Amino acid sequence: MNTYARLPVAFASGSGAYLKDTNGKEYLDGLTGLAVVGVGHANPSVAKALAEQAGTLTHTSNLYEIPVQSRLADRLCELSGMEKVFFGNSGAEANEAAIKLARLKGNNQGIKKPCVLVVDGSFHGRTMATLTATGNRKVHAGFEPLLSGFVRAPFNDVEAVRQVADNNGDVVALLVEPVLGEGGIVIPDAGYLAALREICDTHGWLMMLDEVQSGNGRTGKYFAYQHTGCMPDVVTTAKGLGNGMPIGACLARGEAAELFVPGNHGSTFGGNPLACAAANAVLDEIEAHNLCQRAQSLGERILDGLRAGLAGDNRVKEIRGLGLMLAVEFNDDISHMVQAGLDAGVLINVTQGNILRLLPPLTLTDDEADELVRRVLSLT
Ligand SMILES: *Cc1c(COP(=O)(O)O)cnc(C)c1O
Repeated sequence: MNTYARLPVAFASGSGAYLKDTNGKEYLDGLTGLAVVGVGHANPSVAKALAEQAGTLTHTSNLYEIPVQSRLADRLCELSGMEKVFFGNSGAEANEAAIKLARLKGNNQGIKKPCVLVVDGSFHGRTMATLTATGNRKVHAGFEPLLSGFVRAPFNDVEAVRQVADNNGDVVALLVEPVLGEGGIVIPDAGYLAALREICDTHGWLMMLDEVQSGNGRTGKYFAYQHTGCMPDVVTTAKGLGNGMPIGACLARGEAAELFVPGNHGSTFGGNPLACAAANAVLDEIEAHNLCQRAQSLGERILDGLRAGLAGDNRVKEIRGLGLMLAVEFNDDISHMVQAGLDAGVLINVTQGNILRLLPPLTLTDDEADELVRRVLSLT
């Protein structure tokens, strides 16, 4: 169906940070299919793991033990400090699981209309619950009635959350991105997550973080909240977890980890051996090549390059980033730069009309990072 205004290019193959189109033209990928292909296109280790698993066993059912899924769950818990994992097939499904956990907690407590606090500018997915949670009117439009059970506050505004906490006893959880992704790579103040943690503790809310985009090493830590001292109760992730194999995960600890019991929730495909084999191989790659640290240093290198190249340019409002979530915010519309990028052999994204967003692979070499900066600057 007509859900995307597609660009006039089709890619035939990829290798690392490069894609080749059906005419043989090469592109440096500054977007990785929207923060998905973090360990590079056609990553040989992931390809090998997939081929081996495909030749052994692709799917059984969550009715049975799935050792490759248990191994992935253990590793994600180790990396995150969480205790239990539910696997789905996308970011939206991971967030659906989180929202269901919050509602289950509320209903168990006898709260008739449990609410989840969400923030403006956020993006949580396209299912009915996750589009309702999303803080963007354009995502809601035409799909009313939206779901009940959500309250909204501005992003990066602790006082607004405190006000809700003091006045609305139905709230049982908040769901927030540590860095707004679709919202334009918006990084909150340093104390924001810690202040939210404190409010959650005071009011008995679950602190639920959407790391669908920011997770899996992209910001320079495995999860973005690990830049701060605080621990959420629930974390969702997806995009970079399978390097292109569809997989999403909802991780939880403490009370939240014990809420689901058999019959509450499920997924036919979620966490099947094929998807989990890919994700285990992604984790192997991240560990073997220290890709969290690489994301951090590459991010700084690219930011430095962009700042040097755009110094004094009065069309630029701000250049910002955390690891390899990078943005150049312009004062005016720059939508034309996407096509200019195709012409120049570089894939970029423009979000909100005036924000150039980069989500390149964590496996870039320094030379590739410099080349990315050169090609992006050539568009401006
Ligand atoms: C992309 C995204 C989602 C939705 O993920 P899908 O896999 O498209 O369902 C949810 N939250 C955030 C922060 C995202 O960036």
